[in-house]
Amino acid sequence: KEMESFPVLKEKTLKESLFQQRNLNVAAISTIHPRASEVSGEDVPDGCFPSSSKDSDEEESSEKVGNSIFYVDSQQESPSDENRGQLNMLSAAYESLDYDTCVNAAWLDEERTKGYTFVVKKDVARWLVVLVTAVLTALVGCCIDITIESLSKFKYTWLKTYTDYGVEHGVLIIPYLLWVALNIGPTLVAGYLGSYVEPVAAGSGIPQVKCYLNGVKVPRVVRIKTLVSKAVGVTMSVLGGLAVGKEGPMIHSGAVIAAGVSQGKTTSFKYDFGIFEYFREDHEKRDFVSAGAAAGVAAAFGAPVGGVLFSLEEGASFWNQALTWRVFFGAMMSAFTLNLVLSTYNGVPGKLTYNGLLNFGKFEDLTYEIWEFIPFLLMGVMGGLLGALYNFINFKLTQLRMRYITRPWQKVAEAILVASTTASVAFLMIYGLHDCRKIEDEASRSDRYPIQMYCNDGEESAVAAIWFQTPEKSVRSLFHDPSKSFEWLTLSVFFGCYFLLACWTYGLGIPSGLFIPTLLCGAAWGRLTGKLMTLLFPGQSWLNEGKYALVGAGAMLGGVVRMTISLTVILMECVGNITFGLPLMIVLMVAKWVGDFFNEGLYDIHIQMQGVPIMAWDAPPLSNNIYASEVLNRPVTTLRTVEKVSRIVEILKSCTYNGFPVVDSIPTEEEARNFKSYGTLRGLILRSQLTVLLKHKVFNENAHVWESSKVDIRLFRLSYPRYFTLQEVDLTEEDLECTIDLRPFHNPSPYSVVSCTPLPRMFNLFRALGLRHLVVVNDSREVVGMVTRKDLVKYRVWKHRGQMGLEELVIYDN
Ligand code: ATP
Repeated sequence: KEMESFPVLKEKTLKESLFQQRNLNVAAISTIHPRASEVSGEDVPDGCFPSSSKDSDEEESSEKVGNSIFYVDSQQESPSDENRGQLNMLSAAYESLDYDTCVNAAWLDEERTKGYTFVVKKDVARWLVVLVTAVLTALVGCCIDITIESLSKFKYTWLKTYTDYGVEHGVLIIPYLLWVALNIGPTLVAGYLGSYVEPVAAGSGIPQVKCYLNGVKVPRVVRIKTLVSKAVGVTMSVLGGLAVGKEGPMIHSGAVIAAGVSQGKTTSFKYDFGIFEYFREDHEKRDFVSAGAAAGVAAAFGAPVGGVLFSLEEGASFWNQALTWRVFFGAMMSAFTLNLVLSTYNGVPGKLTYNGLLNFGKFEDLTYEIWEFIPFLLMGVMGGLLGALYNFINFKLTQLRMRYITRPWQKVAEAILVASTTASVAFLMIYGLHDCRKIEDEASRSDRYPIQMYCNDGEESAVAAIWFQTPEKSVRSLFHDPSKSFEWLTLSVFFGCYFLLACWTYGLGIPSGLFIPTLLCGAAWGRLTGKLMTLLFPGQSWLNEGKYALVGAGAMLGGVVRMTISLTVILMECVGNITFGLPLMIVLMVAKWVGDFFNEGLYDIHIQMQGVPIMAWDAPPLSNNIYASEVLNRPVTTLRTVEKVSRIVEILKSCTYNGFPVVDSIPTEEEARNFKSYGTLRGLILRSQLTVLLKHKVFNENAHVWESSKVDIRLFRLSYPRYFTLQEVDLTEEDLECTIDLRPFHNPSPYSVVSCTPLPRMFNLFRALGLRHLVVVNDSREVVGMVTRKDLVKYRVWKHRGQMGLEELVIYDN
């Protein structure tokens, strides 16, 4: 009888058929649709503005200024092949993290019994975890760096020997084939790791970390297997000669290490060290992940402050003073450890001259004159334009990849194709461009492999000088090689080819960083600008091609990734010059503004293409007239404070929701329809909590058994983060007849809003508190609806050809 009065399934069907009648789809994006509430005839809640009249006013006024507000309704559907990778779709598969602490009776019990000693112990443990994370992150960085250095020495020495031999004997096919083979070998390993072993390790990892800090559960993102695949994979990608860097993946590695160390157990190896149990909660883990990401940036760039700012820029909604200190401490310790180990490895222990994995080298002269801001500004504009073009090309390529290159073997094959094309392009350039320069600096020859090709004795091919080293060293060459080291044609052809190769490479099924290739492209056109300046203002002492290469690199990077604060500080710390901070900041800001006019940053594009429900910084503008009553979902699936096991099981089976309001009593279908409410709110319980209770049979009828063994908060922590699924819960017929008292376990004070709460207010709650569920109640605190992150994220600002509007994204089931 109880199941009959349970209104969920019937009303859900009703709502679905309503959607079908309206038959809206993505293609309808250019049609102005009425609001969901208007079509379904729902009343505007008391105290809210009548939405229809306000709507028409809004639309009229926005038409006057050339803006339109478009509404497209969301619908759950699987994306067809041609829809895959579109930017206006959200995947229902992504779940949220629980950043809100569930302050229930079990949690309070722990706090009460353990007292202040526990608080202090937990605090000390936090610092310890951050320290260990920092040291481990730096050590991973050192391993990657040392392996790349040692193996690339072999690679380029071999290549040099065979190229010299090939030139001498007229058999250039030998060095060419060797180069292709030496690129393909490591790429094969990287491709295998990124496509077969752990696909989430492919790419730079920054988008994934960004999503995690934003509150989205990206499956397998902080696993040990991911870390190993990432670290080994990126080493192989760099060795494979691809247009990639190792810096981005370091950030991901730091995040994984932090998540692993803080939990005191490994789920991959199924081993529990029995420590740090109190950190087994999403919000604790998130804090460590931000510290780990900062440690990763610090190790990668030797930029501890940049690391803190990176975490702040990407995960700023959850920040406090104590966390800032810990994150800064971690970043400092990571940079220091890396420096110590690399200095020792390079035979100068204690000298601490190896600041980070990426080393820009020492700029002799970075002074600038006030009027140079004009060319810097123009370079910022150029960076924005090129960045937007880069993102556009990469977006189109990724879209094709998502549609047609879906199997692991296809991904590996594509990576191999890119690796061999890179070798071929480089070889053709070295062969075809006759750009010779004197071999000047004997001292720097140990890590250089000068190739004479068809140059005179004592000269080397300038083209080979760029290609015969890791991309990171090429950046350094472009920054520091004396003026006139590269011809116009060499730089132009190199820029064109590398730009296209880098566009093609990012997004392959291999671990790869984006920073170095974009810096290298930017350094190439920046140096060209420097040459142009020398031509326009000959004989000026302040003119330095390297300085313009640096500005170009910053502009290009800013134009592609669109981060401003952290990137400025990272570049400043890499360069080691504070005065040059202002030009760098201006260039990065201009590049971002110009780029933003055309499209989003590359990380954001990739996040959107995956359909991740990531929350933007702010609610969409002009959304104050969208109310909770319009975005909420109903009927609401609720549970009673004391609930029957059979009903809980039935609900968990019949829906995918992760949170359920707990109410006093459930109204009948009739009552629910008439009064549009689903019982008085008493709390909120999560699916994960319910499965733990079912698994351990914490039933009222078993009270005598579990009371003696004490059901406390540890019960939930022990199964964190991979809670049981319903299939793992064994229940007998007898168990199904039992009841559970949810009161000690549910969150008795969940966040709730009234129906007339405007969208930006709910948005701020989600963003600032990291909420997962928000219950909508009426004046009598009766549940009238549910709002989750997806309900808010689906409203997104839409810009096209000077028009701006609000679109409602399509939610699809994977
Ligand atoms: P998340 O996926 O963020 O972890 P969730 O799985 O509980 O949370 P969503 O998948 O975001 O929820 O929700 C999909 C839709 O279901 C949303 O429109 C949301 O409002 C609605 N919803 C969530 N929980 C309930 C519930 N208990 N009753 C009715 N609707 C719900």
